[in-house]
Formats: sequence, C-alpha cells, structure tokens
Amino acid sequence: MKILVMKFGGTSVASPEHREMAARKVIRAKEDGFAPVVVVSAIGRRGAPYATDTLIEFLRSIDPSVPPNAREMDLMMACGEIISTVVMAHTFKTMGYEAVALTGGQAGIITDNEYGNARVLQIHSHSIRHHLSLGKIVVVAGFQGVAEDKRGFHPDITTLGRGGSDTTASALGAALNAVAVEIYTDVNGVKTADPDIIPDAKTLPVISYEEVAEIAHQGAKVLHPRAAEVAMLHNIPLWVKCTYTDEPGTLVTSAEGAEGVDLPEVTGVTHITGKIVYLVFHIGEVPEKPEIELQLYRLMAKADVNLYLNSYSQDTLSFAVPRDRWALVQKLLDGLVMPVGTPPQRLVIFRVGDKPSQEYQMQKQMLDALGNTILVQEIAVDVLENCTVVSLIAAKLSRRPGVMAMFLRTLYEAGIQVLQTADSEMSLSCLVNESDVEKAVRVLHERFVTDRAYTR
Ligand code: ADP
Ligand code: MG
Repeated sequence: MKILVMKFGGTSVASPEHREMAARKVIRAKEDGFAPVVVVSAIGRRGAPYATDTLIEFLRSIDPSVPPNAREMDLMMACGEIISTVVMAHTFKTMGYEAVALTGGQAGIITDNEYGNARVLQIHSHSIRHHLSLGKIVVVAGFQGVAEDKRGFHPDITTLGRGGSDTTASALGAALNAVAVEIYTDVNGVKTADPDIIPDAKTLPVISYEEVAEIAHQGAKVLHPRAAEVAMLHNIPLWVKCTYTDEPGTLVTSAEGAEGVDLPEVTGVTHITGKIVYLVFHIGEVPEKPEIELQLYRLMAKADVNLYLNSYSQDTLSFAVPRDRWALVQKLLDGLVMPVGTPPQRLVIFRVGDKPSQEYQMQKQMLDALGNTILVQEIAVDVLENCTVVSLIAAKLSRRPGVMAMFLRTLYEAGIQVLQTADSEMSLSCLVNESDVEKAVRVLHERFVTDRAYTR
C-alpha cells in the first residue's frame, strides 16, 4: 500500500469551495493508486467560529482574571480539529467516496502529558491501517493526541502547540512509512521571505530539512520546525504545496536527496511575527557564571521557551524570548533564588526590570531575615520589550568573511537601529525595534536575494 499523508491547513478547509478543492487533491491521489491519510487543522483563522483562537478566547472570556486549566484548555482547543475531520469526511461522502474521521486518540497518537505543547511519543497505527485496507479515506484531526494516564483512567486529550498539525502529518508519515508527506496551504511553497511583506518573494523548488527547520525556527510559520525534524529523522520526502493550484510546490529533502539541484546560497529572510522580549542578565565576573547560565538555560528548557539571540560577555548573558511566553518567563525569573557552587557557597536572587516587584521584595525579605549567615548576590535583569528578530538564512554563507559586515551595513544604510546580533552555522540574526521589521526584511531581501550582492 502506497500511503500518502496530505495535510490541509486552516484556510484550506475554511469554506465549502476550499474544502472541495482540498478533497479533489485527495481524490486524485486515491485515483492514482495512493492510500491517502488526510490531516486537517481547525476551520479558518481567528474570528471563524471553530478556529483555535476563537475557542481559546471563548474560554478565557468567561473571566479573564482566571486562567483556564491547561487540561481543559487542550480539551477545548482540540474541538476545532475534531469538527474539521467530521466536516471533511462528510465532504468526501457527498463526493462519492467513503471516508472515516478519527480524533488524534482514535488514530493512535500517543503523546506525553505536557498539555498545550505535548510531544508525540508513539503512534499505534493499526486503526488507520484497518480503515485504509477497507479502501476508505482516513481523515485525522491534526494538532492533538492523547496522553496515557498512569492511574488507569481514561486518556486525556493533549495538543501539540501552535502549528502542531504539521507535526501530526510528519509523525503519521513516519509511523505509516508513507511515500511522502504533503503539507497543503494557502501559498505555493516555501518562499524566500514572508509573502505578506515581500509579495514577489520567490518560491524555492527544493530546500533541505535543515534549512526549512532553521527558517521555521527563525519565524517563517509556513511549516512547524518539529515537522521538518521528524521528517528528516525518518528521511520521508516532505512537500509544501498550494491547495488551490497545481504548481509543483517546494520539496523538502536531505542535502543528498537534492543532489544535482543547486541549493541556493541564500535560502531567504525571516522574521519573528509578534514581539520579542530581550533580556540582559548582569551576572558579573564571578567564577560561577557558567553554572548560573546553565541553570537559567535548564529553567527555560523545562518551561519549553524558545530562546533567540543568545550572547555572552565577560559579565552578562543575554537572550530573547517570545512575547507570548514573557508572562511565564517573568514569573519564573523574578525573585528566583538560586544556590550556586558545589557545595552551595552562596545564593543569587534575580531582580527583573527597573521596579522591584512584590514577588521579588518578598523573597528578598526572606533572605534578609537569614541575616549574615549566607552570602546573597543580586542579579539585575534588564528588559527590552517590543523588539523582534530578523534573520538571513544562508547555510553556505553565514560564516563567510564580510557577510556579517554587509548584513549590518544594509540595515545601517536603511536607517535601522540594530540592538543585537548573533550568528549560527545557518543564519545571521539581528534584533530590531518592532516598528523596523518590515523595512529590515525588505532591504535584506533586496540585497541578498534579489541582487545577490554577496557574490560581488
Ligand atoms: P496553514 O494554516 O495552512 O498551516 P500557516 O498560516 O500556518 O498556514 O502557514 C502559511 C503562511 O505562512 C502563509 O500564508 C504565509 O503568509 C506564511 N509565511 C511566512 N513566511 C513564509 C515563507 N518564507 N514562505 C511561505 N510562507 C510563509
Ligand atoms: Mg501552519
């Protein structure tokens, strides 16, 4: 059986016309001899009645001062995709094809119990295979799974985090040993920049898993980075295609798989949509600096916070976190007391922002009450809100001499203030004020993609 996983995003299932176009793609694949497994997102974007954001806002609006439980929030959010599966399966029926709608749990998708950001641990694929063997089109709810309950209660519904339907598709592709995973969306592939900012950005015919994971991590939400990583791990060809056209789209494959094709030196320009909060930790020139940094990184990893623009100096550590995680990060850090040294020699306490918060003052009073028996050092954390990260993704270039200079000069000449820079094997990044983002993307795209100025 040649299994083909086909994922349709929110806009692709938003209206009867769109759903019919999506369904036609699936039916064509079936007529061509593939066994299609369809993954769907919730219907529509923010504002649409069953869109994920609408469901979240509905629950929050009951009383904005009381945050819903993560478990109940997942149950709520999962409804959007469930509705979508039923609507799609019935659409197939009206077109003369037998289809079955499955929730993540019914499709055998088992996750850990990290509500809101669960990871797929395992997929029991017998149910999907059974339906496929009966010749049915299987429609699976994206973005969700179930966590096995150790106490033997019924399993809980979990969700995989924003963009998680892409991951569902990749994970199913791996579990079912699919011939390919196709991600259908409202653009015709992976582009050299966000088409909302650069309308004539080029569509890349081929891109490596690593590059697509990097552009996704650096903010291009066309594909979830985890989806690229899962596909890479199992070496499954991944396509990004448009639901509404028959264009070839973008093939995501291994660098070897792209042999014979010239992968471009510059993949594109990305930006983080939404604001970033930049933090500078004034740790001081103390011998325990690496230990403190390690503990901070562990804390952020445990809270599953993505970090950008890590940088170090003699006495500081800096990184940026997404604005929507800032409340959580602030709660974790402000007034945090950390023992340092082995065995612990002293305590450090973190003070976030200019004004000492209540949490900080309470902790500080407690420490002061200990008197002189223990050494306490304060670490001030500067906070820079309302900025964002713009990156040039260029695996073959990022470390070439002169490229960083050209990157900075391009921004400087456009009158854009660069607050911080960072580089990696695959990219050059900078921190700019939120208000400069579009301009920064435009000038970088023009110089590095359109003009290919680095070749001169
Ligand atoms: P879906 O609901 O189908 O998952 P998404 O909104 O998650 O769709 O992703 C598709 C969107 O990603 C496009 O509409 C486009 O605005 C945006 N996007 C941002 N950067 C890029 C890029 N480099 N290439 C293509 N699309 C991009
Ligand atoms: Mg998406």
